[in-house]
Amino acid sequence: MDDSRPRSRCTRCGAKVPGGTKGCRELFQEILVREYGDPAYGAVHLLTVDAYALQHSEDHGPRSNAVHLLRLCMLLEHGLEASTGTNPHWFQAQIESDREMPLLEPPQNRGQTTVADMHGAANADEYVERAYHWARSVWEAYRAHHGWARRWLQER
Ligand SMILES: [Zn+2]
Repeated sequence: MDDSRPRSRCTRCGAKVPGGTKGCRELFQEILVREYGDPAYGAVHLLTVDAYALQHSEDHGPRSNAVHLLRLCMLLEHGLEASTGTNPHWFQAQIESDREMPLLEPPQNRGQTTVADMHGAANADEYVERAYHWARSVWEAYRAHHGWARRWLQER
């Protein structure tokens, strides 16, 4: 990444990163490469994908908030495995077939922790710890939709 660019804010998540919104997306691409390249980092893959997607909902489909919030709820409250390649098939099928998936309005403040905070992690243990911290801060930011997510999962 070109660090000579002035620091600016990502218009989605509010992170202060060189290159703003585009720079923020580049940071996310970098952490994906790390997660796919090393299973110790990949252990939290679904958490980072959901946290990033929920903080950048303008970049995804209109129903993506609901889908990512449901999976985040499963990861944080139901012990769903977060590593690369473990997205449960039944869940994916349910999501794809459910036309009732609501359009969830993203919160004004999408959480204090962002993808920029993942980069300083010294090792995989710290990376995993930061990923949980990030995911919990995003989950908390979406608290207005917790009731909906928990009910949806309970009814299935
Ligand atoms: Zn961002």
